[in-house]
Amino acid sequence: MLKNIKELTPKELGDVLSDWNEPRFRADQIFSWIYKNGVLDFNRMSNLSPSLRKRLKEGFSILDLELIKKLESSDGTQKLILRTEDKNIIEVAVIPTDQRVTGCISSQAGCAWACSFCASGIGGLKRNLASAEILEEILYIKENSVDNRLTHLVFMGTGEPMDNYDNVMKAIRIINSPETLNIGARRITISTCGIIPGIKRLSGEGLQVELSVSLHSPDDLVRSQLMPVNKKYPLKNLILACKEYIQKTNRQVTFEYCLVEGINSGLPEAQKLVTMLLGLNCKVNLIPFNPAGENNFAPPGKIKVLLFRDYLIKHGLNVTLRKERGRDIDAACGQLRLRTQNERSENKNNA
Ligand code: SAH
Repeated sequence: MLKNIKELTPKELGDVLSDWNEPRFRADQIFSWIYKNGVLDFNRMSNLSPSLRKRLKEGFSILDLELIKKLESSDGTQKLILRTEDKNIIEVAVIPTDQRVTGCISSQAGCAWACSFCASGIGGLKRNLASAEILEEILYIKENSVDNRLTHLVFMGTGEPMDNYDNVMKAIRIINSPETLNIGARRITISTCGIIPGIKRLSGEGLQVELSVSLHSPDDLVRSQLMPVNKKYPLKNLILACKEYIQKTNRQVTFEYCLVEGINSGLPEAQKLVTMLLGLNCKVNLIPFNPAGENNFAPPGKIKVLLFRDYLIKHGLNVTLRKERGRDIDAACGQLRLRTQNERSENKNNA
């Protein structure tokens, strides 16, 4: 299989071109076609000589993902279902809000961690995505967004970014560079289910990315039931790792908290959460559970959600409540991927 040209940084492509006796500035031209104009076909790079286009075609692949489905919600959120060369299904979302257009991207095909409320873990981990595939997800998002606008990126699609650390970092560094998408690190969020070694590693990168930690409960027993990862990285160690991250990077951490009726959304949990987080430079982002996966979970009613939020605010925490987006197109993590995969296997069985 040919190496995807998007695996290369602008400097690395410059090195290849100078080995081929081509001027280095051709690398900028090529990256400009790919990242600024969304052209993923060497033949259409009209300012390159035919012989260079041929050589590039023989040396590199340029398009590894195929768009197989696109859904648009009444609120403008889009879901794109993409298929990898080896037939894995991944999903991305384009989420336009007031001033921003946020791309929600996947770091893996499937996920190893099997959180009980999340559809991404059903079926387990298939494989890590290559950095070129992650970059391609972003190009598809740009192509489908109104006026090709894309201001923010969140690694909140399928997969655990800390388990695919190197490829995620490589993609982020390429996204950052002015020759490509020029999206600043501060506009990129990495969301983790709480992989402590990943949080430690990230704190030493010198990158100003945003870190979100999926918390979902202040109680080890409950959290272990919701998130098996808690057995490996329990709360005490996780919060300590976040504290160290905050001290070392001087950056705020966001704790994602998915509210599930009867499990983690009562006042006792709110009290415990305040005790756990007060004094930490952090924000809590509340997400009412979005029905997904094979479980009997439900979101709490509106009043309960607001009571929970107000308790946290009253006791000094910084809180946001995530607006639900794209419910009519299965926008919760992994739902659409799962449905597409099931449809495909049903079609195969019927064939
Ligand atoms: N593996 C990473 C990133 C992917 S999930 C992580 O765990 O953070 C992105 C966020 O969506 C996480 O906070 C996850 O817990 C949350 N999530 C998953 N399924 C959900 C659902 N059905 N309803 C609400 N939030 C969900």
